[in-house]
Amino acid sequence: MNRIGIFTSGGDSSGMNAALRAAVRTALDLGVEIYAIYEGYRGLVEGGEKIMEMTWDSVGGILQRGGTVIGTARCKRFRTREGRLQAARNLIEKGINALIVIGGDGSLTGADLFRKEWPDLVRELVETGKITPETAAIYPNLHIVGLPGSIDNDMYGSDMTLGADTALHRIIEAIDAIGSTAASHQRSFVVEVMGRKCGYLAIMSALATGADWVFVPENPPAPEEWKTEMCQALRAGREAGRRDSIVVMAEGARDSAGNPITSQEVKEILEKRLGEDTRITILGHVQRGGSPSAFDRTLGTLLGHAAVEHLLEIEPEDDPQLIGIRGNRVVSSPLMDCVAQTHAIAKLAEEHEYAKMREMRGGSFTSVYKTLHVLLQAEPNPPAKMERKLRLAVMHSGGPAPGMNTAVRAAVRWGRNLGHAMLGVYNGFPGLADNEVKELSWMDVNGWSNRGGAELGTNRDVPSNGDFYAIARALEQHKVDGLLVIGGEAGYDGAYEMFRRRREFPNFNIPIVCLPATIDNDRPGSELSIGSDTALNSIISAVDKIKESAVASRRCFVVETMGEHCGYLAFMSGLATGAERVYLHEDQLTLKDLQVDVDQLVIGFKRGKRLGLIIRNEKAHSVYTTDFMARLFEAEGGDLFDVRQSILGHLQQGGSPSPFDRIQATRLAVHCVDYIIEQALSPEPCSAFVGFQGGKISFTGLEDYPRVADQTLGRPKTQWWLDLRDIARVMAKTAP
Ligand code: ADP
Repeated sequence: MNRIGIFTSGGDSSGMNAALRAAVRTALDLGVEIYAIYEGYRGLVEGGEKIMEMTWDSVGGILQRGGTVIGTARCKRFRTREGRLQAARNLIEKGINALIVIGGDGSLTGADLFRKEWPDLVRELVETGKITPETAAIYPNLHIVGLPGSIDNDMYGSDMTLGADTALHRIIEAIDAIGSTAASHQRSFVVEVMGRKCGYLAIMSALATGADWVFVPENPPAPEEWKTEMCQALRAGREAGRRDSIVVMAEGARDSAGNPITSQEVKEILEKRLGEDTRITILGHVQRGGSPSAFDRTLGTLLGHAAVEHLLEIEPEDDPQLIGIRGNRVVSSPLMDCVAQTHAIAKLAEEHEYAKMREMRGGSFTSVYKTLHVLLQAEPNPPAKMERKLRLAVMHSGGPAPGMNTAVRAAVRWGRNLGHAMLGVYNGFPGLADNEVKELSWMDVNGWSNRGGAELGTNRDVPSNGDFYAIARALEQHKVDGLLVIGGEAGYDGAYEMFRRRREFPNFNIPIVCLPATIDNDRPGSELSIGSDTALNSIISAVDKIKESAVASRRCFVVETMGEHCGYLAFMSGLATGAERVYLHEDQLTLKDLQVDVDQLVIGFKRGKRLGLIIRNEKAHSVYTTDFMARLFEAEGGDLFDVRQSILGHLQQGGSPSPFDRIQATRLAVHCVDYIIEQALSPEPCSAFVGFQGGKISFTGLEDYPRVADQTLGRPKTQWWLDLRDIARVMAKTAP
């Protein structure tokens, strides 16, 4: 391999810049030259100044920018052989024979065609005297690697595409805003979101916002019947007391006969049949825009880095790969299989094979759709026959985490829909001991899906001594058959203490299940906890602003994040904001490290750097505090730069939950309720904590808590994200 070219193609999407930055810095760090090709395939065909060598600094300051800074375009000429011949010549002129292509299936198909044709194109260039045989011999093959860039999340081979999460952010901001005006006027709204062939954005945004009805290409309703069904559902919602009705539709919505369902048609039906004042909002291009979410910045960084590493290891006979993500892990799969499967799914819609289509979208698609359909009902629809009606309690414990309300809503509705009584425990374990328990109805949790804070109340008190007796009495009085604790460390500690005392207190012999909800992401048994994505997004938007405030001065910021002894928030926000140094408790900081860092800072500013960003976890070190560091850097910086500190504080715990936190809170809560019911009906019920592991939801027995958790430091014994430190180190280097 000689030099690498990188370009973005097709529709722009947020996170493309992060991928560009990571690829450029990884390549330069490994001593490989890398060129950006501006305007996608058009730049490839035009050549000249459209293909520019990248330096370390040319990708500085782009992480927080939406779209793609190197441009994208549709290009008809590249679809012709003549265009591709010119493209090959342009690449050879610059000494490039490896390409990183960021785009959708169209762009990736084009790249593969180009790769296959390459030897032939090179031969023609020699025959027509455009290049010498000696030059041709240097470039026998073109290597390519694809990264999925598309807001639709429609690419087979990756759980998420670059830009889909940011698009969801834009959509739920809009629907939340529409929801409040709709409720004020008791109006109905039809909201159309992008997705011609893929209903991901529609389903997930409907789930996240608590919408009342949804249309997606994968689940088309029967012609005509849908009108009656939708009207019945919305009427029932009104009768149950809902003040707003929101219908979310993917732009590619159809009925099962293949007829398009338009927002205009839906509006007319609602007006005619229900007499509802109905408005249409077509979200359009706002969905593409804006600063990338924390997730898209991280995803772009991981994929861009992996793409370069992959190209360095590639052999000429290797099949080209698509680099994507499964759970939290970067994975690669044969590129053309992914493209073929993506096309096959789209084709299933044309053939009206919708069941197969849903299946190919992956396991969680079908279950999320089913969940959505239960949660949007106007009232529970319990089965006619059930083994035993259970009484299940839901509570919080630990610090507040955005998404707690979302989880309670999902648990209460899911449980009630299965015919069980759902009880809310107010104010954590002390509330349970004080008997603050109330049955929750379907409408009690209406509107909770997007609400920040915790309606049930939460605190960090862990029960001890006499509390257990009071708790046992409350459980007995309310005949509780199972307990769901949605919270953080205090919740897990409290649940474990109850579990340990189950011989002493027979009432504790019920399934007790913990659902990780803490911004710190410090719970064992789960790679992610509810609330941490929202907190990360709050941190990065604050840090973006802090960085912008330093326009006129040479300044270094030391920003302190929450997280207790877990460095997740500090580390991931550092990765997503381009911090040059992150201090974590996990790294066991020494004075020597600080000396090296001070020297690095001084060198950086001497070379002309204008802004420094350092992120420190609140408990990174008991002596080297944020204040200490700021003073140290200030003293050492002298006239070269000044230092400001910023302790972000409680803004990290608040706010409306992010789309990801809402979706995952819902999924986990539903799994937990199913698990509790199953265990409550078994003679020897198990207790557990739930989580995401390797992209799947799984349960770990509560008896394993001491084995997997470091209970002194309040974090898991192994933390997956620590493996990302090498990538972060490369990204944060100053120009070599
Ligand atoms: P996306 O990559 O988002 O699916 P498009 O399908 O519009 O977007 O493709 C973007 C560009 O990729 C096209 O304008 C064209 O230059 C190139 N391209 C797409 N499909 C092919 C193809 N089959 N052969 C050659 N080039 C293609």
